[in-house]
Amino acid sequence: MGEVDELRAIEERIRKLRDEIEFHNYRYYVLDDPVISDAEYDALMRELVELEAEHPELVTPDSPTQRVGAAPAEAFAPVVHRSPMMSLANVYSVEELRAFDTRVRKALGGELVEYVAELKIDGLAVSLTYEDGKFVRGATRGDGTTGEDVTHNLRTIRSIPMRLRLDQPVSIDVRGEVYMIRREFHKLNEERRAAGEPLFANPRNAAAGSLRQLDPKVTAARPLGMFVYGIGYMSGAGGAAPETHLEALGLLKEAGFRTNPNTRLCRTIDEVVDYCAHWRERRDSLDYEIDGVVVKVNSLAQQERLGATARSPRWAVAYKFPARQATTKVRDIIVQVGRTGTLTPVAVLDPVELAGSTVSRATLHNEDIIRAKDIRIGDTVIVEKGGDVIPEVVKVVTERRMGAEREFRMPTKCPECGADVVRLEGEAASRCVGGMACPAQVREGILHFASRDAMDIEGMGPSLVAQLLDAGLVKTVADIYDLKLDDIARLERMGKKSAENLLGAIERSKSHPLHRLVFGLGIRHVGERSARDLAEHFGTMDKLAAATYDELTRVPDVGPKVAESVLAFFREPRNREILRRLADAGVNMKETERAAPSAESPLAGKTVVLTGTLERFTRKEAEEAVLARGGKVSSSVSRKTDYVVVGKDPGSKYDKARELGVTILDEHEFERLLGEG
Ligand code: NAD
Repeated sequence: MGEVDELRAIEERIRKLRDEIEFHNYRYYVLDDPVISDAEYDALMRELVELEAEHPELVTPDSPTQRVGAAPAEAFAPVVHRSPMMSLANVYSVEELRAFDTRVRKALGGELVEYVAELKIDGLAVSLTYEDGKFVRGATRGDGTTGEDVTHNLRTIRSIPMRLRLDQPVSIDVRGEVYMIRREFHKLNEERRAAGEPLFANPRNAAAGSLRQLDPKVTAARPLGMFVYGIGYMSGAGGAAPETHLEALGLLKEAGFRTNPNTRLCRTIDEVVDYCAHWRERRDSLDYEIDGVVVKVNSLAQQERLGATARSPRWAVAYKFPARQATTKVRDIIVQVGRTGTLTPVAVLDPVELAGSTVSRATLHNEDIIRAKDIRIGDTVIVEKGGDVIPEVVKVVTERRMGAEREFRMPTKCPECGADVVRLEGEAASRCVGGMACPAQVREGILHFASRDAMDIEGMGPSLVAQLLDAGLVKTVADIYDLKLDDIARLERMGKKSAENLLGAIERSKSHPLHRLVFGLGIRHVGERSARDLAEHFGTMDKLAAATYDELTRVPDVGPKVAESVLAFFREPRNREILRRLADAGVNMKETERAAPSAESPLAGKTVVLTGTLERFTRKEAEEAVLARGGKVSSSVSRKTDYVVVGKDPGSKYDKARELGVTILDEHEFERLLGEG
């Protein structure tokens, strides 16, 4: 390609990128209904920034790289901001964050620089104008220069003061983020789904859609919150005028605004890096979404000297967390059969990178959810992966439908055994009636029996179980205890050594206490905790098997559902036969007696919550230790909790404990308490 042609191709690409970005800006900022994920949008923007950096002669003042957001929608009266509302430059790695610090210090001639690190709230920016201490106007960011007048809607947000609590009659423009907490976002989407209205892709779009309403009554019905994070303009503060960003936040708090409690002063970039790492791991412990950390130079004088580009200040940067949403295509919808026969539809996706891993499947839960979200095979969808949950389809991008998409139908026969599929009145799940004749249910049942929290038979994973079933060596869990060395050693990828190891693990599983067996049997509605309650209460399998409905419901925390299910299980002759064979094989049928807890143990009668990783105990060992001393282990922190034991990288339970003032123990202190009784 000649030089002229090449330049023309680049020009063409730039024009195309600008058009595309403009279109997505409109979908996102005006309609609050994006059709691509933020990560994809950011990639388009980055490509444009890079091309323009290589060819500065092609930069035009109306390029999206030179501007913020989108022009205000005509439905709202325009508001010209007294000082522009800017965007933020993004960084995606620690190296880029350090490069920002180097740039800042260089521009300031090597002066000392302090930073303020704040959570980047994923909502929408608004500006609140106060004259003589009274709220007079509020506006969205718009294109940064001119925003939309949403005063009436902002008045419905209770955390926004109508009058400042200051002595001086200050005139001020306050900047902050309006957001919707996650729980309310899900509730709102649930209501919209029920009403057949389009869903919001995320809490940010929901907040923006709720604030940009023509009727303030609609906004008032949506629970919005606001955190303020800066001052855009101020006069009349006299000597109280702040000199640092932190002082500005202090002044805002005094004036009656909500500022975010997690803001921190950092004296070095290392502290900033730590703060970013801390919140990257704990973003789920908050009830609102954050998409990163904003780092700001603390001194306002230094901020002024650093100045701004056309789009963003040079004294601040946004460290963005890995994206959790991506756009991809549903290639197919398949059905998985679980241990209890439940058919779960699963979307097979074009693989996409999401929060640091490649995602190619997403759960669709059940038929109703597929109908409600109208997910079809061939659809373009937005998928999300939050925390450690399984990826989920958030919504369909119906704008991308080509007409060839196909609706999903739940099969009427089980794909694994051909038995009928039924859906009971009032249940969302479809179920295969094949029971023990369905290979999928048998396979999943055996895997569950052998799993870590049940009989803990190491080595009995999915591929071995599949081989044992194929070879006809195992049909029910009772057959596990009849396995012979030769049978196992003959299987593919199984030497004598691994066969011996497996037999050893099977042998060891015989002496576990009863509750592991009760859990491993996979009785419906009997989870780990109920299995333990039942085993402790009845003591032996015989007594449990003979228990009546009344006796069962007398066990604390055992309700009618669990009781019915336990009765049904023991009524089934095939199950009783399996239990008889297990007992004959020597599997322990008693809950091992616990040493009576010494009344002296400081843990006797206390409720303990464990969070984070302990160094010298596994989670199980720590729980057993508490139980053995007469304590109770609970999974959530409340005012009734006596101790919260905190290990490495604790979760939100730690924050909750601090909030409620529950006694917090580190591993060392926990060990000491154990030692005392
Ligand atoms: P941004 O959201 O990345 O950063 C700037 C904004 O951060 C500010 O305007 C403010 O609203 C917010 N913010 C939150 N907490 C803050 C704090 N403590 N201090 C200061 N500011 C804080 O930039 P942007 O210009 O608003 O928009 C870009 C974002 O919008 C990107 O995430 C982009 O992916 C997304 N977007 C997506 C689409 C799409 O089609 N999916 C289209 C346009 C934009």
